[in-house]
Amino acid sequence: MAKTTMRALVKAHAEAGLVLSEVPVPVIGRDDVLIRVLRTGICGTDLHIESWDDWARDHVRPPLVVGHEFVGEIVDLGEDVKELVSGDLVSGEGHLVCGRCRNCMAGRRVLCAHTRGVGVDCDGAFAEYVALPASNVWRHDPGIDLDVAAIFDPFGNAVHTALSFPVLGEDVLITGAGPIGIMASLVCQHAGARNVVITDVSPYRLDLARRLGATLAIEPGADSLAGAMAKLSMREGFDIGLEMSGASSALQQMIPVMAHGGRIALLGLAKEEFGVDWSHVVTNMLTIRGIYGREMFETWYWMSVLVGAGLDLAPVITHRFAATDFARAFDVVRSGECGKVVLSWGEPS
Ligand code: NAD
Ligand code: ZN
Repeated sequence: MAKTTMRALVKAHAEAGLVLSEVPVPVIGRDDVLIRVLRTGICGTDLHIESWDDWARDHVRPPLVVGHEFVGEIVDLGEDVKELVSGDLVSGEGHLVCGRCRNCMAGRRVLCAHTRGVGVDCDGAFAEYVALPASNVWRHDPGIDLDVAAIFDPFGNAVHTALSFPVLGEDVLITGAGPIGIMASLVCQHAGARNVVITDVSPYRLDLARRLGATLAIEPGADSLAGAMAKLSMREGFDIGLEMSGASSALQQMIPVMAHGGRIALLGLAKEEFGVDWSHVVTNMLTIRGIYGREMFETWYWMSVLVGAGLDLAPVITHRFAATDFARAFDVVRSGECGKVVLSWGEPS
């Protein structure tokens, strides 16, 4: 008989903490699939929900199964689901779109005006099973490393941002060597950037970025950026900027070192409003573009192609824990002394 309850990591009440508890296995609708979860990645969003900060208080209604980065196997399909089959190894796009707004109707699902987040607005993937609309499911190529497949969601943020402007032959500045910044560095190197300079305040993360091939990994600040440019014999500034720290000072320091006509993609979510030198943006004709989520499903297509072409994400994953050890895993993520941290929920059948 199929299981009716499962272990899940739950935000049970409007207070700090998460509990591993027994909850009902999700019931699927005609267009959904049920996925047995194998591995999950921990994201900054999960930390916000765990610690119950102001953002979480404003966005999350307990009880809620958290988590949105995962890989698993399809074990059940709604009656209207075609193309997918039981046993498929899949990850899920964590943004559920409305399907009816102007952008959705035009096929621009990444721009949906009414997205809902898996593990934020509805039950998520830190569980033995997760249910998802079949239209949100991405089927992996056979043989993919399970831990790599588990982090396709943040890899997608990196790919979406890094490839939002052509980087071939360009000098790229990435601010923030968190997991997403480091994955973006790998993507830019793979896509033929000339130099990839990455900044961070954390020695651990600068070291990881350096080991993963960044041309230079340096502390932020006007002097160190000027020093990097001199070292690389760059005269006119960076062609492409990828802001991946969420720090106001990172964007403020990036703008003056961009080449005329330089292009900036902003992924980092700043915690507060802040000023930038807009006249510099205007007179140097900079382009600044906000990036949210992943293109559905062009980014996912590129991700599979990049991994298939040999882009190796495995070194970005620095820690692995059993799901039962989630508290230690969350502590490691909070410490910042890590790349991606992956939880294991089960083994493939
Ligand atoms: P992270 O917090 O692990 O990494 C951010 C890094 O920036 C850290 O290593 C931190 O030490 C570094 N940093 C802090 N101040 C800095 C400064 N002044 N200069 C340079 N680096 C600095 O986060 P992540 O998971 O890698 O995500 C990166 C950013 O992208 C975060 O701001 C996150 O909120 C945001 N994000 C946005 C989307 C989206 O759809 N727009 C999706 C996922 C994540
Ligand atoms: Zn929509």
